[in-house]
Amino acid sequence: MKTEDITRTWYDYFAAKGHERVPSASLISPDPSVLFTIAGMVPFIPYFLGTEKAPYDRAVSVQKCIRTADIEEVGKTARHGTFFQMCGNFSFGDYFKEKAIPMAWELLTSPVDGDPETGIRGFGLDPERLWITVYEDGEERDEEARRIWEDVVGVPHERVVGTGKADNYWNTGQPGPGGPCSEIYYDRGPAYGVDGGPAVDEDRFMELWNLVFMQDRLSQVHSKTEFEIAGPLQNTNIDTGLGLERLAMVLQGAENMYETDQVRPVLDRAAELTGVTYASTEDPEDPRHADDVRLRMIADHVRSSLMLISDGVRPSNEGGGFVLRRLIRRVILAMRLMGVEEPVFGDLFSVSRDAMKGVYPEVAEDFDLLHQVAIKEEQAFLRTISAGTAKLESAVSAAKSSERPLSGADAFALHDTYGFPIDLTLEMAAEAGVVVDEGRFRELMTEQRERARADAKGKKSGHADTEVYARLRGEQPTHFTGYTEHTTESSI
Ligand code: ATP
Ligand code: MG
Ligand code: MG
Ligand code: MG
Repeated sequence: MKTEDITRTWYDYFAAKGHERVPSASLISPDPSVLFTIAGMVPFIPYFLGTEKAPYDRAVSVQKCIRTADIEEVGKTARHGTFFQMCGNFSFGDYFKEKAIPMAWELLTSPVDGDPETGIRGFGLDPERLWITVYEDGEERDEEARRIWEDVVGVPHERVVGTGKADNYWNTGQPGPGGPCSEIYYDRGPAYGVDGGPAVDEDRFMELWNLVFMQDRLSQVHSKTEFEIAGPLQNTNIDTGLGLERLAMVLQGAENMYETDQVRPVLDRAAELTGVTYASTEDPEDPRHADDVRLRMIADHVRSSLMLISDGVRPSNEGGGFVLRRLIRRVILAMRLMGVEEPVFGDLFSVSRDAMKGVYPEVAEDFDLLHQVAIKEEQAFLRTISAGTAKLESAVSAAKSSERPLSGADAFALHDTYGFPIDLTLEMAAEAGVVVDEGRFRELMTEQRERARADAKGKKSGHADTEVYARLRGEQPTHFTGYTEHTTESSI
């Protein structure tokens, strides 16, 4: 099943159940204090908070999302992209758990060609492979959800696992709505890890779908796990999020989300350009693993860059523009570490366009512009790299003649002044047989980060609620953290 077809089945199912089809909002968050749309519910926040009345009782969407907080996972886990699409169904004061849970199950398990009795078309997943979590924290238990899963849907008791506040209770970080969640996990099988369910192994048991049941009115929220429930909400709401790429990976029999139809072509093209054979390894000990991770990361980041530029983001040194810059640079560096020093974006962008234009025709319509933005940024970075290379070469020959390591201070200056990432410094120094004082480099980075943090504290401007979206479902803040973005680990 192609990703596009999955989307169609998704919309058809919920439209038949009376949901209004709402097109994806932009990747740029509607709230200026947060950079990106990180979940399907973001465009509906005013309805959930009750500050605006929803124009419909039920909605269905497939929302473009960006999660920069997941950037270090990309290519290493099977399931984290910086860009991904979240399928969601929503109820604004309309149906609640009693309908949301059986619907999710029916859609996942009904046959792809349609149920012989009901005619309902679903995703044909094997029910034996599905595991469920429900909220259970000491005395507080979502017994209603467990009862529906076990008695109405018929999931065996052993496959309904209780988890606590940290994993399975949603709140905004502010007084207001909150409520328990219930998640659906897919067992990828013994080849992917140990048995025992999602509480034991999240790689083998992959989270597919999160159902949030907004039912409580919180009077105080101290942290994600410490809050006070004042009473029930007048209007209960449903918010769900299913990862489209994760479902595609299961339905396409792919090893990971980077091997699904909207992403894989870029990976293959990058492999072709580098001459590296993609081996699809998951084992970090495998010598081919480092290049596999690079190729997956490239495929992810190229697509994210294309979609961000298409939504109007432009490379810059702050905010969303800096995230875009960082994605583009990471691609260029990864290609370089696999031996390609020539420009690649023209090529990779057109491959990504062709993979995405079926769902997002605008990436083809505006392609000339998107392409120009990317190659201009690439050219500028390639110039930076060559300036840095000259500096690096002189530092390397000085280190060589004095028979000392290349100093941490030099590596730091290369990073700070030339934007020259430490990975590249290490690699190029190693080629010349010179080691780098990486310990000192890390110390200098930490010092710089601490200075920046102290500085930022002094300037804090009282955005009390900037982390509202960021805390949704435990997500890290994605709003711009200025200097610290510049100086996060691995330098770019
Ligand atoms: P995980 O625990 O696997 O990181 P999550 O709990 O952070 O996922 P949610 O915030 O609950 O994810 O988002 C709802 C759904 O969106 C998830 O169940 C998953 O299918 C999908 N999803 C979340 N983050 C990503 C990502 N970085 N890439 C692809 N899909 C994602
Ligand atoms: Mg999770
Ligand atoms: Mg989740
Ligand atoms: Mg996550």
